[in-house]
Amino acid sequence: MPELPEMEAWRRQLNDPVSAFPIASAGPAHIATLKTFDPPLDSLEGRRFRGADRRGKRLLFPTDDGELVLLVHLMTAGRLRIVTAGGAGPKSPAFRLEFADGAQLILTENARKKRAGVWLLTPEAADAELAHLGPEALGLGPEQLGEIVHGESRRLHALLRDQRLIAGIGRAWANEILHTAKLSPYALSGDLDGEEVARLAAAIDAELERGLELREAGASDEKTYRVHRRLGEPCHVCGTPIAQVDFEEHTIFYCPTCQTGGRVLKDRRLSRLLR
Ligand SMILES: [Zn+2]
Repeated sequence: MPELPEMEAWRRQLNDPVSAFPIASAGPAHIATLKTFDPPLDSLEGRRFRGADRRGKRLLFPTDDGELVLLVHLMTAGRLRIVTAGGAGPKSPAFRLEFADGAQLILTENARKKRAGVWLLTPEAADAELAHLGPEALGLGPEQLGEIVHGESRRLHALLRDQRLIAGIGRAWANEILHTAKLSPYALSGDLDGEEVARLAAAIDAELERGLELREAGASDEKTYRVHRRLGEPCHVCGTPIAQVDFEEHTIFYCPTCQTGGRVLKDRRLSRLLR
């Protein structure tokens, strides 16, 4: 699933093209993709977006009259792009907007199960839709992070991914961040001392900024991730082969030398725990 660096790179790319011209036609939208019916999609027609905003992993397109917000959550397989005027878009996108100059904003989802979503909301309803999200991950800082990690004791990998606590980090960047912070994915957040919290806060910013820079330059997953999905490859810091462990429904990647004092983490899949 695209996380903060990927979404922020797309936001920056989309900001100018979506606000260049008013919307000429809105739709069609796949029935599973469009999550709202009031206000109707065609109420966007004739209006213009102010630009592209982002909150956590969601993109927001507010109209410049302040009356409507188009909210997009790409989930795992959704992709959003601009097809310039005269360009050929896909025959049946999950969602489409056409601008007055003929350019199109296209959402596609290459997956059997449609999970990406589009909501057309009033600004108040958009705020309510996003109210459960924690503060943005980038720029959190040690003080605010300290309050979050000591608020409830959770395994660090799960805590970083909990959007209600911190918005924007998923499993890939949780792997990268914990490796840079030299902390075990299984460490309990309540046990972190001040120095470890500061290290984690610095690692969150360093990794998300590194990711954003790479994604803005169009880097692939292969070029971007150093730990995530690198099973058996040498750790870029110490050369130890990267290990993996199943935790709840996720696979975590980590370096046993840099992060767990040489210990191999035990499988903690929910299915196994319930057996
Ligand atoms: Zn290492």
